[in-house]
Amino acid sequence: MTDIQDVLVLGAGMVGVSTALHARMRGLHVVLVDRRGPGEETSYGNSGVIDGGNLYPVAMPRDVPTLFKHALNRQTASHYHPAALPSVASWMLDYWRWSAPERLEDTARVMRPFFADAVGSHRELMKIAGAERYFRQDGWLELYRLPQSLAAQDRRLGLSKEYGIRNVKLTRDETLDLEPHLKPAFAGSIWCQDADTVSSPGGVTKAYAEAFAKAGGRIVIGDAMTLKKVLGGYEVETSEGTIRARQVVVALGPWAGDLVAKFGYRVPLGVKRGYHRHYAPKGNAFLNRQICDEDVGYVLCPMEQGVRLTTGVEIALRDAPATPVQVDRAFRAAADLFDLGEPVEAEPWMGRRPATPDSRPIIGAAPRHEGMWFAFGHGHWGFTLGPATGKALASAMAGEPVHIDLSPYRIDRWK
Ligand SMILES: Cc1cc2nc3c(=O)[nH]c(=O)nc-3n(C[C@H](O)[C@H](O)[C@H](O)COP(=O)(O)OP(=O)(O)OC[C@H]3O[C@@H](n4cnc5c(N)ncnc54)[C@H](O)[C@@H]3O)c2cc1C
Repeated sequence: MTDIQDVLVLGAGMVGVSTALHARMRGLHVVLVDRRGPGEETSYGNSGVIDGGNLYPVAMPRDVPTLFKHALNRQTASHYHPAALPSVASWMLDYWRWSAPERLEDTARVMRPFFADAVGSHRELMKIAGAERYFRQDGWLELYRLPQSLAAQDRRLGLSKEYGIRNVKLTRDETLDLEPHLKPAFAGSIWCQDADTVSSPGGVTKAYAEAFAKAGGRIVIGDAMTLKKVLGGYEVETSEGTIRARQVVVALGPWAGDLVAKFGYRVPLGVKRGYHRHYAPKGNAFLNRQICDEDVGYVLCPMEQGVRLTTGVEIALRDAPATPVQVDRAFRAAADLFDLGEPVEAEPWMGRRPATPDSRPIIGAAPRHEGMWFAFGHGHWGFTLGPATGKALASAMAGEPVHIDLSPYRIDRWK
């Protein structure tokens, strides 16, 4: 048994690493526990967009023709396992309810302070970690093939203006000035300027973890599922023996529900699975930033390994075998826009977005366990929101003023 620590952070994805680093920066003695190295799960394989200008959550379609198209299971943007539907039906119904237009507006308003803080909080950790080499500070592009799809963004652009978000509509030629290697098979784009993008989300997460270790934090391999409540705190089993701390943070991303259930908290934490594969660009073609093909539903991301193609949502059981059909569909569609060469790895990567039906994460104190804190369920935007989450939670744990109101993110919002 080692000395008693101040904080155990369980899970070394972007959310856990950022929380550990912020807690250490506030002078707390922190041990970060994961069953593998930092940033090797969901925080490794995402699209690497830090979307400070994000407004509406990714919603479920509600009109019958679109729902019917998705039900046929031949879309690129979505895929589902029919066998999973009975298990996920109640989560889907809740998600459908939370996708009503007025609820989306409400979530946009509630989440705005978090997104508004996202780029600044990343840049703060970027400087501390010396991770500048991964960052591009010039936004990302939403590409629209159809003029009517681009025109349909006008309402959102109006609201963006009200919030002071810099989303700029570009013609096709203006888009090609920014990205000269795109093929002109689109009507125009929206340049989301309040965003940074990175060339290695896993590399950024590891860099923040190294900064945590340099600042005196400890990173150990261990199984979070061994967590126990003991007198005066919590204990977990690790490769370095039992570690005890006064406080514990559950930041296990898509696996968080398993642990909190052991402590009696039932949360509707679903997973939206997603895939990626890297391709060598053909010839000297390159992209300057991440580009979403909005009418088809995938993202092209210039990464260290090549151009990473990331897919939309797959509804399936978290641990069911991978079925990367969306990767092939997206690869074929991408040929209209950009010349992708040979795949870099033999098989696509699969990840799981930890998703709540209301698209709001779970952040804050456990109502029935003193010293236990939650930070998970960030869905499509956990890479973006990790540092802002870490800052808010570490302030709360250290008893300092919290820069963002955490009340909308309570775990007991579901009765
Ligand atoms: C295809 C795709 C594209 C995406 N694109 C973006 C994007 O562009 N921008 C964005 O902001 N977000 C994006 N996301 C979402 C984002 O990746 C996630 O929201 C985020 O990575 C979640 O971070 P996390 O720290 O909560 O979870 P994770 O990164 O999954 O970390 C959880 C950690 O818990 C550990 N763990 C689990 N169980 C145990 C256990 N029993 N014991 C010990 N450790 C355990 C895991 O090993 C892991 O390291 C994307 C996701 C996908 C799948």
